[in-house]
This record gives sequence, C-alpha cells and structure tokens, in this order.
Amino acid sequence: MPAGRARVLYLAGSGRSGSTLVTTMLGQLDGFVAAGELRYLWQRGLVENRLCGCGQPVRDCPLWSAVLRDLPGPDETPSDAALSDAGRIDAAGIAGRLRSRLRMRGLPGMLRRHRAGRPAIDRHPDDEVIGAVYRALARHAPTLAAGGPVIVDSSKLPPYGLLLDGLPGLDVRVLHLVRDPRATAYSWRRRRRLDGPADDRLMSRPPVWKAALLWLVWNVTTRRLWSAAGPDRYLRIRYEDLVADPAAVLRRIARFAGSDPVELPITPDGLVRLAPTHSVAGNPSRHRVGAVPISPDAEWIGKLSGRPYAVVTAIAAPLLRRFGYPLRRPPATQTGATAAPTPRPAEPGPVVGAGPVVGAGSGVEAEPVAGVVRGGEG
Ligand SMILES: [Zn+2]
Repeated sequence: MPAGRARVLYLAGSGRSGSTLVTTMLGQLDGFVAAGELRYLWQRGLVENRLCGCGQPVRDCPLWSAVLRDLPGPDETPSDAALSDAGRIDAAGIAGRLRSRLRMRGLPGMLRRHRAGRPAIDRHPDDEVIGAVYRALARHAPTLAAGGPVIVDSSKLPPYGLLLDGLPGLDVRVLHLVRDPRATAYSWRRRRRLDGPADDRLMSRPPVWKAALLWLVWNVTTRRLWSAAGPDRYLRIRYEDLVADPAAVLRRIARFAGSDPVELPITPDGLVRLAPTHSVAGNPSRHRVGAVPISPDAEWIGKLSGRPYAVVTAIAAPLLRRFGYPLRRPPATQTGATAAPTPRPAEPGPVVGAGPVVGAGSGVEAEPVAGVVRGGEG
C-alpha cells in the first residue's frame, strides 16, 4: 500500500447480496473497521442521527465523534464553540448533492467518461470532506495492523465507488459481491423495518422485475468498471460460496484487502461470533450481535412462484451463466451439495411484518441455499 493512503474495501454490487454479513464479519477482525454504507453517513448518520452499530446515536458514538472533529468545515470557523462538530458540516447539503451526482440517469455518461480515461464523476468541493471521512476513520479506528485499518464500506452503489476511487489519499479495492438474483428478488419482497425493530418505517419492496433489473444494471456496471483492474484491485465473490464455506471465503477476502487474520470469528460448529461494530448505516441486521448461525436458506426455491421466477431469470439471463447460476430452478431438496463440512443449527423462519430482526435471511442475510450453484467463475 502506498504510504499514507487510507485503505478502503468497497463492497460493490446490488442490494441483498450479503454485504451486511460480510461487513460485520470483517469488522470482527483486527485491522478492519466495519463502517457500513458510508454514502448514507450524511443523511442517516448526521442529519437523522440514527444508531451506529455500537448502539449509540452516530453523533454520540466515540469513533464517529472523533472523525467529525477532524473534518474540515465549509468555512473556517472551527473555534466557534456554539457549533457542534456535526453542526459545522453541511450534512444535508452533501447528502442531497451526492444523491443527484450519483443518479442512475447519469450512468451512461459516467461509463463513457471512464472508458475514455477521464474522471467519471465531476469533482465537487464536497469531495474534500468525503475523502476526509475515510482518512479520519483510518486515523481513529483502533488497530494493531501496520499500515492502518482497512475501512469496509458496504455502500454497494458502483457510482459512489467510482467517486471514492478518484479521491486522493484513498487506496480503494473493490469486492464485488454477487448472489443469485432469484434469491435477492425474493428477499426484497420480505417486509423489513428500515433500521431495526424500533423503526416504524419499512424498507422498500420493489417488484421482482425492478429488483432483477437493478441486479443486472449494478452487476454489469461493477464488472465493467473494475474487472479489468487486476486481481489486487478487484475480487468477485458469490454469496453462496461464502455461506458454504465462511472461513475460507472470509480469509480470501481479508487477504485481498491486504490483511492476513490470525483468528476468524467462526466457531467450529459453524457459528459466527459478532460483536458490535461502528457501522453507520445499512441493513438492520448490522445490529445483530452474539453467536449467529450462517445457514443456507432455500426458502426462495420453494416459494418464489413460477412467473416471478421466470421474469427474474429472463432479465438477469445475460449474467446468470457468467456468475455460475443455473437458469432452471434447482430442486427444493438440494441444500447441501457445497455446504461447509460442519453442521449448522437450524434457523427459524423469515421475518415477516413487525417482528424483531432475527432469523433466517434477516439476521445475517444468510439466505441462499448452498449447493444451488456450483462452479462458475466465483
Ligand atoms: Zn459507534
């Protein structure tokens, strides 16, 4: 790693692909800080002051308070004690401008500029403070690792990854996380609270055609942007492979990020030990702690009915084979062909309605069935 640059592991791809599980697991390793979906830091973290993964509101969290103190303000009035560290920053403005800069309709232009070797996303003065967040996190996150911690950013959106990739002072590596689109489409249809049991708002539930289209667009885009960047800058992992052998895949990801963990948070009986992280936004399952089973969940195979299955398969077809997913529905009984050698405890059913955020497919996003997909490029 070039000296002095903050190391960022950017999780790219489409939603419901297990990024929360990967982020939280990595956050248990020395040398990693699970920062969550940092593109939402401004709105959900600073404007709305929602809960950090550690259980404190973001502005009260010790790590994020330290980061905020280090950020440059819009004007040079840092001595104004009347302004809190969060208040110095125009968080709502940055959030709004980020949304418009990263809009999907700008995607063709971004790809064109990227192909031409030009900055894909126009620079903006906000970028100074956005980059400063990562550098401050690298300074303040406790770690014994030489070279500072790896900041795990699970924002997923490829355009935001592009923006980061162009910022000075950051060493960005891209982990492309993919998952069977039939499983993700099914997962999107489940009711979930936006930020855990205490939140009245529900996460959006796009129709399956839309979930499939987004899956295709973001996965094609991620490949197009980074797959040629070389094995030290781009790694693609299938979520099904992670669930089948979490220890091996986690180690592979850690090594890709430039770290070789001595100890993994995985017990011999296949549980993952999760302690709180400082993730600032993301799927409510980021709040889950304790020994959590990573279990295949074949529910979508039996429950995603014929028409939605066909719609998703047709839309996602251009990439299914490339990622090693079959066109045909796998047998419902097929659950363990690639399962890890250790037995895993059974999980309760999915979260539906207002229940707490635990259980199959929500607690740690451990949904896909291991063994449905085999081979492929991984
Ligand atoms: Zn925290």
